[in-house]
Amino acid sequence: MPHYDRICINCGNVFEIFRRMSDSSPVPCPKCKNETQNIILEAPTTFTRNIDHPDSPLDEIPGHEQKRKMADAVIRKTLKDMGKL
Ligand SMILES: [Zn+2]
Repeated sequence: MPHYDRICINCGNVFEIFRRMSDSSPVPCPKCKNETQNIILEAPTTFTRNIDHPDSPLDEIPGHEQKRKMADAVIRKTLKDMGKL
């Protein structure tokens, strides 16, 4: 079964789940029960924002806070996986 890295859009909690590809039911955050997103699918949008809005400061991009949280979590998790945290 494939595993996915998920991030809570409310508290930024990052966790892994194992589920079938066909299973698209919501995955609540284990900490606060809020909505979560798949990091692998969502994270790249964080890094393409400058191409779409090269002159806009980050704070003017809709959803910037969520994306920044997500980017931070991805970086944290990558560092952890590398044994640097
Ligand atoms: Zn949460």
